[in-house]
Amino acid sequence: MQNTFKKLAFIALPITIAATSVSAADEVNIYSYRQQFLIQPMLEAFTAETGIKANVVFAKKGLIERLEHEGKNSPADLLLTSDISPLYYAVATGLTQAVDSDVLEQNIPEQFRDPKDQWFGLTTRARLIYASKDRVAQGEITSYEELADPKWKGRICTRSGKHSYNLTLIGSMIAQHGEADTEQWLTGLKANLARKPQGNDRAQVKAVKEGVCDLALGNSYYFGKMITNEKQPEQKEWANSVNLVFPNQQDRGTHMSISGAALTKYAPNKDNAIKLMEFLSKAQSQAMYAEANFEFPVRPNTKRSALIEQYMGEFKQDSVSLQKVAKLRVDAAKLVDKVGFDN
Ligand code: FE
Repeated sequence: MQNTFKKLAFIALPITIAATSVSAADEVNIYSYRQQFLIQPMLEAFTAETGIKANVVFAKKGLIERLEHEGKNSPADLLLTSDISPLYYAVATGLTQAVDSDVLEQNIPEQFRDPKDQWFGLTTRARLIYASKDRVAQGEITSYEELADPKWKGRICTRSGKHSYNLTLIGSMIAQHGEADTEQWLTGLKANLARKPQGNDRAQVKAVKEGVCDLALGNSYYFGKMITNEKQPEQKEWANSVNLVFPNQQDRGTHMSISGAALTKYAPNKDNAIKLMEFLSKAQSQAMYAEANFEFPVRPNTKRSALIEQYMGEFKQDSVSLQKVAKLRVDAAKLVDKVGFDN
């Protein structure tokens, strides 16, 4: 009896959503790995403009598995992710469908969308080197390649090499230098680590502040999240202890990744979902979206946040196709294991 109840409780939620989404034509259902506060302002603006109600199921994990499990009966129209990896995975697993949209093609640069129109970037972020203000001179490090220079021995902190943010960075190194040279680079970087890879991006900047290391790898928006952090003001001190280095300004530019969206394969409200994707790519939503998390608008010539203007300015971005880089993540993960990066 108890088991039956549990089963019913488990399936109750998706059924409820499916029922409302099928009956109402003016809705769109979103499965989001992006936190609600980030996307809510744009969704409200979307509803105000179109009359289409946006329902969000937010979760940190398991949404793709849920999509897989629900199959044709899934109420979800749109998958929103905070990284390229889940998008790439969703496409590879056959959970998405192509969107043929002139608006998206116009607003989103080619390198930040799937060549087969299965996924689209909505914001971009740079993977930076955070360098100690006290112990690293300006200009002392200017590229990812230099992270392998023995002069940094025992001076670098990073999260796991297997984390998606590092896998795409390593993937971009393979795209640029090939596998053999990237293995050599990764071996050099591993030898320079101050400690075993651990923690998240912000924890590395904290380690710089505390003198554990002098250089850290981290995504650009974390600087904004730290320097404005009223709830945990100690994070302002972490941010204030570092200079931001945008690597490879002299050659290919800094490695960029995205947050993005994909239309689900069985989207019951397909037209509404495409309308929402297009809405999110427009200048006004792009400015709002990027501001909310200190990211960069994916759409060129869009207003960026004042904080980004103040601390980051313009910089050269690696123009490599993110699809190519995402594909190389598998090879990148093998290299991470091979050189024992996380050991
Ligand atoms: Fe992040």
